[in-house]
Amino acid sequence: MSAGRGITAAFLSQKEFAAPSQAYEVLPFRHTRLPAVPDQVLVTSGVGEFLFLSEDDFGRLTGGTLEPGTELYRDLRTRQIVCDAERGPFLQGLAAQQRTRKHFVTEDPALHIFVLTLRCDHRCHYCQVSPRRPSERGFDMDDETADAALDRVFESEAETLTIEFQGGESALAFPLMRRIVEQAAERARRAGRRVRFVMATTLHLMTDEMLVFCRDYGIELSTSLDGPEHVHDANRPNGTRDSFERTVGGVARAREICGHDRVAALATITRHGLRYPRETVDTYLELGFESIALRPISPFGFAVKSRRKLGYTSDEYLRFYREALDYLIEVNLAGRRIEESYATLLLTRILTPFPTGYVDLQSPAAAGRNVLVYNYDGGVYVSDEGRMLAEMGDDRFRMGSVHDSLTDLRQSNAMKVIKEAGDAEKLPVCSECAFVPYCGADPVLNVATQGDPVGHRPTSEFCHRHTGLFRIVFELLAARDPGVLRVFLSWMTRRDVSELAAAGYRA
Ligand code: SF4
Repeated sequence: MSAGRGITAAFLSQKEFAAPSQAYEVLPFRHTRLPAVPDQVLVTSGVGEFLFLSEDDFGRLTGGTLEPGTELYRDLRTRQIVCDAERGPFLQGLAAQQRTRKHFVTEDPALHIFVLTLRCDHRCHYCQVSPRRPSERGFDMDDETADAALDRVFESEAETLTIEFQGGESALAFPLMRRIVEQAAERARRAGRRVRFVMATTLHLMTDEMLVFCRDYGIELSTSLDGPEHVHDANRPNGTRDSFERTVGGVARAREICGHDRVAALATITRHGLRYPRETVDTYLELGFESIALRPISPFGFAVKSRRKLGYTSDEYLRFYREALDYLIEVNLAGRRIEESYATLLLTRILTPFPTGYVDLQSPAAAGRNVLVYNYDGGVYVSDEGRMLAEMGDDRFRMGSVHDSLTDLRQSNAMKVIKEAGDAEKLPVCSECAFVPYCGADPVLNVATQGDPVGHRPTSEFCHRHTGLFRIVFELLAARDPGVLRVFLSWMTRRDVSELAAAGYRA
């Protein structure tokens, strides 16, 4: 064969590269196939619109053989996956939607976490900090540090400021918390700003006087309740071995004084708890909660040391989660409203362009940008996990001190690491993932679990768990069961299922 003939055979003719004659363009999209949705391809647009296509229709999309005017073409156009030759107004709509989704990027930090003390009366096996005994000294925030931290809070121009108090046990530092709340409320009043307060507490040490103060300042109380008594007490031992009983008593008293809806609870799922998905939901139902958060165990702090005893694989967690979710749907359809808050978050991400304000699943990462953590010793961290990592000996996510200005904190090396590794859309594997419009990047978690901020998705527990969670939600959406869709809509709109005639959603 001559050289000339070889070239002719190896390259297509110039005609093949001419501009396509079709009157539409295909915009960037991602796709995946879900094991439980055979013969369908899930296609997601760059701004999070989605559609399930048959394999034939997916072939038409990728092969450039769509026919304008058909229902398939209209569906793809509505989902911003194809656009007509007249692109101007279309791209403006796309940009507006992206601006809404990513609006948080332009906002100042709204969530300000104060770690008042490391002292605690519990020794929870999965605790993320190294708790100190209630009588120990030197582990509380002092007044000067608290004042400087408040200055940072009010430097932020976020529309609503949220101050969250954490520990240890916040109630052990109640006089300091009272001082911060009074000052913050007064500064907000003078400046015409809106500030809300959240207190993480076991509720065991809260007196009526403390609860009255919480009521007067509208402080939301967030406690831990890990499920049935034997699970909760095994996970959260206290000195008197009655943690469950005292938590239940604390919830009742707090509701009585502050109001029913002022008390929320989270369930941390340990290996022991994995065996009781229905019982965990039942415990929340019996105690009159309308929301449950089924939180997997964290890889930070004490939890690392206890992982062998308390830990499990993502697949085990996903099996637990699916069973609990199916049961919750059943309960809601039977007339009792109770949401799973992480499912509500994912559904809101998938079905609406509106920001959720949840800082742990954002892209670009919200750590340091939308949340700041003020440690008891005056250190400022990008997130609670960044602070815990420092306790484990790695302080790369320490932004600086409470005495540094917000501008300086934002220009810290810690923020450079977050910015470089915090865009999920740019990360290896995530950039191709159909779920990336709804997912997030977590450089702090990547450092803690995989040793570097970018991380490695094929071996990432975070990725494996989120892939599983997105699959569960999309499988339920693809099934188009009217009852399930109504339950989901009721969670997203915070209304009873009975108030919703039909979900009005078409997959
Ligand atoms: S972390 Fe995993 S599930 Fe999330 S976008 Fe990246 S690849 Fe997808």
